[in-house]
Amino acid sequence: MPGPVKTEAVVLRSLRFGEADRILHLYTPRRGRIGAIAKGVRRARSRFGGRLEPFFRLELMLHEGRSELLTVTGAQTIDGYARLREDAAALDSAARACDALSRLFDTNEPHPDVYNLLCNELALLDADVARAGHANQLAFRLKLLLAAGLAPQLASCASCGERDHLSGFSGAAGGVVCPACEAGSFPLDEAAHEFLSTALGRPLADTPTATERALRQAERAIADTVEHHAGVRLREAVAR
Ligand SMILES: [Zn+2]
Repeated sequence: MPGPVKTEAVVLRSLRFGEADRILHLYTPRRGRIGAIAKGVRRARSRFGGRLEPFFRLELMLHEGRSELLTVTGAQTIDGYARLREDAAALDSAARACDALSRLFDTNEPHPDVYNLLCNELALLDADVARAGHANQLAFRLKLLLAAGLAPQLASCASCGERDHLSGFSGAAGGVVCPACEAGSFPLDEAAHEFLSTALGRPLADTPTATERALRQAERAIADTVEHHAGVRLREAVAR
């Protein structure tokens, strides 16, 4: 339906285009991921100022025409997350969070819960930049998996239902597995299992801590699940 569109959005990516334009990858509550073009935005006197940059939460006016890209006609800042922007680790976490979200939710299908999750993540990083890091990033990914219907099975063996001796993780089976079902799995320490269960069950603001060894295993569990069940490869959760 061509015409004006008013929506909230978070800027996932902002790419230079032509002489003075930008192409924006946006995540919205009701239209999922959309692309838009902002014309003349890189000119010094652009009415958009510097707000069409990654991680800005905006109230946008867009024009929808025949092109797949909508055109930005107005933008107001809801939150620019200024503290996050001044911290390299928080910026890196925000970029990785946006990247993981883009890969798992890359269509126009509406997921208001995912939009809220992203705003929550950005607000948490902004409120306390020390949150940035491996545990936060994995907890965010687990919440994305939950929203995508891909949360790993952690309470019993994903293959046979056994509740004890769950010492492996299988991306193909979609969760923890017992020794009898361990084909194709990798060993999962109790601490990693505990991290996955706790981070899935708690709000993002209460992400548990764990050793780097446990976090690496948890990251592999998440990556294997996403690869097997969504056909998506995620970037590494932290810079190495
Ligand atoms: Zn089993």
